[in-house]
Amino acid sequence: MSRTIDLKRPAAIWKEQDVIEGRRVDTFVTIFLTTGCWWSSKKGCLMCGYNIDSTPRVTEEHLRAQLSRAMERYKGEAMVKIYTSGSFLDEREIPTSFRDEVFNSFDEAERILFESRAEFVTPATLKDIDHRSQVAIGLESADERVLRKCIRKGFTVEDYNSAANALYDADIPLRTYLLLKPPFLTERAAVEDTVMSIAYASRFSESVSVNPTNVQKGTVVESLFRRGDYRPPWLWSLVEVLRRGRALSKCRLMSSPSGGGTMRGVHNCDACDKNILDAVQRFSFEQNVEEFDGLKCGCREEWIALMDVQGTMGTTVDVARYLSSDLEFDQR
Ligand code: SF4
Ligand SMILES: [Zn+2]
Repeated sequence: MSRTIDLKRPAAIWKEQDVIEGRRVDTFVTIFLTTGCWWSSKKGCLMCGYNIDSTPRVTEEHLRAQLSRAMERYKGEAMVKIYTSGSFLDEREIPTSFRDEVFNSFDEAERILFESRAEFVTPATLKDIDHRSQVAIGLESADERVLRKCIRKGFTVEDYNSAANALYDADIPLRTYLLLKPPFLTERAAVEDTVMSIAYASRFSESVSVNPTNVQKGTVVESLFRRGDYRPPWLWSLVEVLRRGRALSKCRLMSSPSGGGTMRGVHNCDACDKNILDAVQRFSFEQNVEEFDGLKCGCREEWIALMDVQGTMGTTVDVARYLSSDLEFDQR
């Protein structure tokens, strides 16, 4: 069934909290409906279903109408995040003239964060960019092989480095997103990959956000998940990554998992998901790994066993589901 899309409304608007230079601040978030990520329409990343929030029919006039709707809800929050399910700096999505209108509209904001693929973050696109900008880049993994084979990112670590250098020269802070547990990695390999990537990306970043994979509709990851060949990461893995990552990096480390505590998102078991997600949220603001001390649940033993058994078995499938033959579980 096709969805009716109103091109004059943003795909979503909500409010949350974030941090500017150590201060917790009210944050306004909007996702503009745009023509979408160019890479998504070519091959796309294996876990990405964001093209659901885009259509080639969007014009600059539609974007302008979306901005007006967003402004009706904006109440002077200090931080503004503008997502496009693609790249704010790709002119095909956000024409330069409209970009300036966005900055001018949010005149009370201290910081305006937007996302872009690395290839659009260049000295040319950053020239004359509003000084309140912060750019978020989804590096996902600093391992070239993982980036290419497990994520199909369509850019390289070297491209990320160039973008990071351009931001540094322009004095614009960088937030790097990392993906915890792309497909085809064991739970242990996924943890190691993200810990290593935090160490790498934190050298360039003002903040690093760890995004555990959540299973989005219409993606390669979803097909694997349906077959029992993929399980989103355990919350214990996220805790491990944040704890070890904190010791390795000086920049702010955070995680705000989409779909946390559901079968399609990062999860442990019903008994401990909420407690651990709350601890992750507190950690993201306070940066204190002691938030994770004392977290206990019987499922931790299962996670520890899995960390060993997948390697021994030489498999990345959802071992628990195969062993229980429970491939028809509730796919919330
Ligand atoms: S670059 Fe981002 S928006 Fe584009 S396909 Fe990959 S995850 Fe999706
Ligand atoms: Zn548990």
